[in-house]
Amino acid sequence: MAETTQPVTMETIVSLCRRRGFVFPSSEIYGGLGSTYDYGHYGVLTKNNIRSLWFRTMVQERDDIVALDSAIILNPRVWEASGHVAGFTDPLVDCRTCKLRFRADQLDQASCGRKPSKRPGETPDCDLTEARQFNLMFETHVGALQEESSAAYLRPETAQGIFINFKNVAQLARRKPPFGIAQFGKAFRNEITPGNFLFRVREFELMEVEFFVPPPDAPKWHEYWIEQRLGWHRGLGLRDENLRVREHDENERSHYSSATSDIEYLYPIGWGELEGVANRGEYDLTQHTQHSGTKLEWIDPDGNRYTPYVIEPAVSIERIFVALLCDAYHEEVVGDRERVVLRLHPKVAPVKAAILPLIPRDEGMATRARSLYEELRRHHVVEHDEGGQIGRRYRRQDEIGTPWAFTVDEQTLEDETVTVRDRDTLAQERLPISGVRAWLDDALERDWSSPQSD
Ligand code: ATP
Repeated sequence: MAETTQPVTMETIVSLCRRRGFVFPSSEIYGGLGSTYDYGHYGVLTKNNIRSLWFRTMVQERDDIVALDSAIILNPRVWEASGHVAGFTDPLVDCRTCKLRFRADQLDQASCGRKPSKRPGETPDCDLTEARQFNLMFETHVGALQEESSAAYLRPETAQGIFINFKNVAQLARRKPPFGIAQFGKAFRNEITPGNFLFRVREFELMEVEFFVPPPDAPKWHEYWIEQRLGWHRGLGLRDENLRVREHDENERSHYSSATSDIEYLYPIGWGELEGVANRGEYDLTQHTQHSGTKLEWIDPDGNRYTPYVIEPAVSIERIFVALLCDAYHEEVVGDRERVVLRLHPKVAPVKAAILPLIPRDEGMATRARSLYEELRRHHVVEHDEGGQIGRRYRRQDEIGTPWAFTVDEQTLEDETVTVRDRDTLAQERLPISGVRAWLDDALERDWSSPQSD
């Protein structure tokens, strides 16, 4: 097998996603809406896998975290108390020459609108305004009248829905600190410069845990969560050399944070934040106590009261999605043919197996393949494909990352066995058709690490 050594570009990933129906530019027939995307069938399946693996690790397999699903539109006072109305801002500059807007703190990564493109401020013609603070929250109106009293916001993070429910959950969940509340769901940020495919979008799905701890234990738990989350990303198959932890310096931290470390991934655009792990201290519970008049504190059995500190691992499905596709993408030449293969962790892959009749016109093969497919689909997402040459069908499955293909051929009609083809090694072996279900269940539970590291 000849391997290509070119590093993957974001354009390659965008084009694969489009070609194979993972992700489409949104509102395309109306000219699109910059940096907004819709997910097709394989995109939905992949996102579902990422979300359920996260939920499994963070909630199902732990004793100390419970789930919550709060509203997207909350009482606007929540965002005053949290500091978002005053402080959830990015510095913005306009260029009077090229008429584009930039984040003042990211000018070194931005491209100006003129040709050949320059960094904003790089040439004497650039005419940048002074930086001014721009609030990233989307405003909306609740109710029929657009008066000021009905103004509200689409949530920019799911965390606040958790803090305002602290008392409800702490009373009912029969948990004492350290314990956490997990939530996933859509979040909205009016980013000044969205872009780089799904890396920075205005609407994305956050997965967050607010982990409440006794204040003296906060640094220890912060370290714990950085390690846990890093391990989780490795477990999804992301290669070690593409992951690192970077601590924020004081100027970078959000208004609520007393310490933050980013787990970064080496995206095609360079190292970028994959997940943030912040020590939010007692900031949020204290703010909501002051603004709402409801005491959000912990009272232990001896009557001692304290406001727990909060450690928050927060990540979007979008940033994981892009990292996984970049990490998995591979081009190689097999025989005299090129193939593109997505070496996704089988647990992440949108389709777990393809069932292929070698000669679809052959009734014996067609019937057996169809009945194997109907058996397997009750347990896993599998695909039955009878369109085109077998080689082309394998290539199609390789490009969407399907780990295994079961092929029904002439020999199946004689001895009731099928071949199983491995996406990564291209090895083929024969199995009794009656054992395929158990084989697949077992294969999905096996440890997996990216062959790309070899
Ligand atoms: P950045 O510095 O990249 O703007 P941030 O520090 O504002 O990110 P956080 O507030 O820490 O981001 O958000 C938590 C997580 O949400 C991030 O680690 C990232 O996974 C994700 N995220 C944040 N903004 C976006 C976005 N615009 N599009 C996709 N995912 C995002």
